Amino acid sequence: MSSPIWHPFTQHGLQEPIPLVTHAEGAALHTADGRRVIDAISSWWVTTHGHRHPRIMAAIAAQAERMDQIIFAGWTHEPAEAVARGLTAIMPPELTRVFFSDSGSTSVEVALKMALGFWVNRGAPRHRILVLEHSYHGDTIGAMSAGARGTFTRQYEPLLFDVGTIPFPEPGAEQRTLDALEAACREHPAAFIVEPLVLGAGGMRFYAPKVLAEMRRICVAHGVLFIADEVMTGWGRTGTLLACEQAGAVPDILCLSKGLTGGSLPLAVTMASEAIYQAHYAADRARMFFHSSSYTANPIACAAAAANLEIWREEPVLERVALLAERQRAALEAIARHPAVRNPRSHGTIAAFELGSGESRYLSDLGPRLLAFFRERDLLLRPLGNTIYVMPPYCIDETDLGRVHAAIAEACDSF
Ligand SMILES: *Cc1c(COP(=O)(O)O)cnc(C)c1O
Repeated sequence: MSSPIWHPFTQHGLQEPIPLVTHAEGAALHTADGRRVIDAISSWWVTTHGHRHPRIMAAIAAQAERMDQIIFAGWTHEPAEAVARGLTAIMPPELTRVFFSDSGSTSVEVALKMALGFWVNRGAPRHRILVLEHSYHGDTIGAMSAGARGTFTRQYEPLLFDVGTIPFPEPGAEQRTLDALEAACREHPAAFIVEPLVLGAGGMRFYAPKVLAEMRRICVAHGVLFIADEVMTGWGRTGTLLACEQAGAVPDILCLSKGLTGGSLPLAVTMASEAIYQAHYAADRARMFFHSSSYTANPIACAAAAANLEIWREEPVLERVALLAERQRAALEAIARHPAVRNPRSHGTIAAFELGSGESRYLSDLGPRLLAFFRERDLLLRPLGNTIYVMPPYCIDETDLGRVHAAIAEACDSF
C-alpha cells in the first residue's frame, strides 16, 4: 500500500519517487536503499553546521532526561533563559526582548502582530504593511499576505490582506525602490518587512547592503517600524551572523528560525526593541501581547538552540563560512563561463544562477526535470524553477562540494 502521507510542496499526482531517509550525518543523508545523498540545500536552508552536530545532539539528549514540554505563559525554564541571554548578547543591543515561537512563519506573524499592537497601544492605530516585491515570509495566511502573490498564493488570494508592495531593487534601478519606499512611508504605514540582502524563495535575488541601509534610514526618518526577516539569511548564510550587519542596519523587530537550533529542531524567536515591548507593558491586561502557541519555547528545542549559541561562541563558525563562501565563489566563476548560465551570483555561502534563456518560473517543467537529474546523481538540490542554487551546510568538504558543482556543470550541458 502506498503511504498515507501528504507531503509539503509535492504534487503526488506526478508519482515522483520519495526516498526514505534512515540517517543523516554532516552534509549527507543516507537512504534506505543504501545511497549517500549530499545535502546541497541544507535540508531547505535549516542545517547550518551540519546534520547531527555532536554538541547539539548531546544537549537534546541531556534535556530529554530533565523536562519535555511545559507551559510558557507565566512559567520559565533554564534552556529558554539561556537562549534569551545568548541571543541578547550577540544580536544588536537595541533588540532587548525575545519572544519565542516555533517556525519562521509564526515568527513573522508575531512580528506583524507586535507592529500593530505597538501602534494601537500608543493610541495611534496603523495597520498597513509594506513589503518588497518577490519576497517570501512563510505559508500561513498572514505571512503569505506579506509575501509575493503568485503561484504559491493564487488559491488563497481572497483571504490575503492588502499590503503596499515596493519594487525590488534591480541593479541600476535601486533609486526607484527607495523613492517608492519613501512615498509609501509618507502614508503612515505600520511597518516595512524585508528579507535582508537575499530574497530566498522569490528566486535567490540579491541586492546591495547600501540599499538595505537606505531602506532602514527611510523607515527611521518616517517613524515606520522596520522588520527584518532573517529566517533564512541569519546564522551566517550571507557571510555574517546577520545579513543586516553588512548594512549596519538595526531592525525594530527581527525574525529568526531555521538555523536557530542549527537546523535540528523547530524553534523561532521574534526579537523586539524596548519601545515595542514598552508599548505592551502596562498594568492593563488589555494591552498585553496576545499571542502564544502550545509549544512556545519547547525546552528540548531551546536546549538545541542554546547549544547552537555555544557553537557560535566557541567554534570558528565564521571561518568555516568564509571558506565555504570562497569555494562557492570560485566554483561559480567556472560555471559562469557556460553559455547556458545567466546571472551567476553569490553572496556568502549561497551561489545561484538561471539556466537557459527562459524566464524563471516556479512551475516551469525544468524544475522537476532538474530535480530528477540531481537525484539520480545522489544530490539534494531543489531548483526554484530554472534558478539553480547551492546552499550547503558549513561542514561540507571540498570533495562533496566538488561533486555538487560538477553535477551542475553537467546539467548545464544537458538541459
Ligand atoms: C523559510 C522562511 C520563512 C518561513 O519559515 P518556516 O519555518 O518554513 O515557517 C519565513 N521567511 C523566510 C525569509 C524564509 O526563508
